[in-house]
Formats: sequence, C-alpha cells, structure tokens
Amino acid sequence: MVIRGGTVVDPSQNIDGIFDVLVAEGKIARIAQNIEAEGREIIDAAGKVVVPGFIDLHTHLRQPGGEAKETVLTGSRAAAAGGYTGITALPNTRPVIDNAQMVARQNELAAKANLVRVWPVGAVTKGSEGNELAEIGGMVKQGARAVTDDGRGVPDARLLRNAMLYCRELDIPLFEHCEEEALAGNGQLHEGVVSARLGLQGMPAAAETVMLARDLVLAKETGCRIHIMHVSCAEAVELIRKAKKEGIPVTAEVTPHHLLLTDEAVEGYNTNAKMKPPLRTAEDVAAVRKGLADGTIDAVGTDHAPHTESEKANDFISAPFGIVGLETAFPLLYTHLVRPGVISLSQLVERMSWRPAAILGVPHGTLKPGGAADLAIIDTQQEQIIEKERFYSKGKNTPFDRWPVTGIPVLTMVAGTVVMRDGKVE
Ligand SMILES: [Zn+2]
Repeated sequence: MVIRGGTVVDPSQNIDGIFDVLVAEGKIARIAQNIEAEGREIIDAAGKVVVPGFIDLHTHLRQPGGEAKETVLTGSRAAAAGGYTGITALPNTRPVIDNAQMVARQNELAAKANLVRVWPVGAVTKGSEGNELAEIGGMVKQGARAVTDDGRGVPDARLLRNAMLYCRELDIPLFEHCEEEALAGNGQLHEGVVSARLGLQGMPAAAETVMLARDLVLAKETGCRIHIMHVSCAEAVELIRKAKKEGIPVTAEVTPHHLLLTDEAVEGYNTNAKMKPPLRTAEDVAAVRKGLADGTIDAVGTDHAPHTESEKANDFISAPFGIVGLETAFPLLYTHLVRPGVISLSQLVERMSWRPAAILGVPHGTLKPGGAADLAIIDTQQEQIIEKERFYSKGKNTPFDRWPVTGIPVLTMVAGTVVMRDGKVE
C-alpha cells in the first residue's frame, strides 16, 4: 500500500514534508518521494497530514463491571475514530484490575475487539483501596505496562514507597493521580470564586500539589519513574519543572479539557464540566499550556471517562466526575492550540504519539521504517461540528458538544490494516 503525497509529520525522525509512505506486511517500509505503486493499493493523502497514530496514556474502558458506560470494544472504536492506534486500559473497573488473571482477561477482550492496541495498566494496591500492594510482578508478566490507583492517589506514603521500589526493579512507571483526600474533601469543583458563587464545596489546588510534592520526594529517593496524571494547576507545572531540572525521573500529562476550559464552564451546574482534578482558573490554563509547549508536560492524556447520560443528568453533587475524550482530543487541540500558534503541529503530534509511547515503553508512536504501520491521516481543512450523538463511545458526556473544529482524523491504520476511514470505524 502506498499513502500518496501527504504532509508527513513524524517528530521521532524530525520529518515534516510532503512524502509517500510505503506500507508492506503491516510495517512502514519506506518514506520517500515518488514511490512506485507497482499495483499496490493507493491511499490519496494529498492536502492532508500523515502522522504516527496517537497513544493515550489515560483511558477508562469500564469493562468489567461498567459495560453500560463503555466496553473494551466500544472504547477501541472511539479510539480508532479519534486517530488513536493505542490506548491504555486503566484498572479502576469492577472488580479492579489488580492481578495477573485480570490483566490476561483484558488482553483477551482487546484481541477480540481487534481494532487498536490496548495496554493494560494494573492497580498499585489491591482493589485500589490503598491498604496492601497488588500483584505487581504478576501483572507485568502478563503485559501490564504501568500501575496506578487512578481515581485516587496512594494515600499511604510507606506503601507507595514500597510500590515505587518494585516498579523501579520491574522498570515500569507508576502513574499517580495526585489528590490529597483530606484537602479535596467533598469538593465538587475548583475552590475559588465560581465555587463560592455556586455555593458548592471546592477542591483547592493544594490538594493536587501537596501529594505531588510528596511523590516527587519519593521518586527522587527510590529512582522510580513516576508519571503524573492530569496536571491541572500552575503550581504543579512549576514543581514538575523544578523536579526535571533536578534529574528526578518524572513525566507528566495534561488533558485537553484542562488545556481549554476554566471553572467558568461549571456555571449553570453543568455536570459535563465536573471532573477530577477540577477545571481551574485562566492562570492555570495558561500555565499548563506553557508547560506543554516547553516540554515540562510530556504528553496529552485524555482521561476518557465515559458515564451514562442518566448518571450525568443527576444533580451536580450526585453526578459522577469525568468526561469522554478520545474522539475530540486531536481536533480540539489542533483548532485551539495549533491554529493560534500556542504549539506547533509537530509538537502536538509528538506529545500525542512518540512521548506517550516512550513513557509506556512501547515501540510505537513513530513512522520509522521497520516499525508497525500504526498511523493516522488528518484533514486540516475539513470543518466539523462535534456531535456527541455520533460518538462511537457509549459515553456522550462532553462539554464540547456543538463546538466547531478542524483537524479531523479521516483514516486510522493499525499494523497496516485500515480500522477507520472517513469517520467510519471498520
Ligand atoms: Zn485520575
């Protein structure tokens, strides 16, 4: 197969120009000008952008136990629709993925869905309850690429330190949701003028930074690679920046919603703007954007968190935290960060493909010849209105419904097989 005449943007090789891409036997065979088709199928990419497939470090697939919200299959379809060729399966399912058997089961479900790569992530503690270490070694043997208790952090510092020592030995990263529970309390949104106006309890930014500071101290001491999930506030970006300068093995991600929205989005008690960590202030948004641009924040993670419409239709205090993200991430960030020049297209692609692959330790996120042909084709001219009814995800919980966007993924290929074409998942 020859992908003809697209603008190939592959930050892993510093490629940014018009080339043909030859795909053979599921792999990238060559990137060059004027490759002979020789009877092979031709995909016309003229006027479009060809990029390594996106990799999401932060996907909640809800199976087992939450099949009404999402399954490995529906989440994989959503990923393919969004230009993703690889996603993680975070462990906060019911039951929690905290043993080797459950990791093996995730692999089976992913193989059955047979669309995008799904890398299981195991829990740090049994049941993610924070009391006793999970079977970390066994899960890694079955293919878990990292561990996390996401949904919450690991409150017990001694237990976390032990987990970090294991992770260092196993050479996997520990993904941490930084939230000091006593400080977050029953908070519903960011603590500030909006929470005061709405009469709702807030979560101070310190709930995030207090735990982050503790984690950085322990990462330095243990040498464990720590990955900070969904960074949301300016002070956290600053702590990570300093830690990186000191040589602490820390990486970080930011979500599209924390890059684009402030707590003002909660006005009117909009439950589709209720998430953890909460949407914060304009200064925080500016800081996470700057952190993403200068590389302090390594990656974009969607925190794709599907819920049913009836749950989100509850009153603000009863509604669950979280929004979906796989099908809107790239168009939103292309439209609102790349077009206005906040970051370059190549930077965005790097933070959605090559960097997350490196954090997970998987040989993807690149179009290097010899590697798997996992790629996406993006139409940067086509304009579209986000319509949640059209999502492949079962979750329709998004604050971005009806937003106009451009930078639409029009083809997704995994190991040389087209899994999405013109918005339709195969
Ligand atoms: Zn989280």
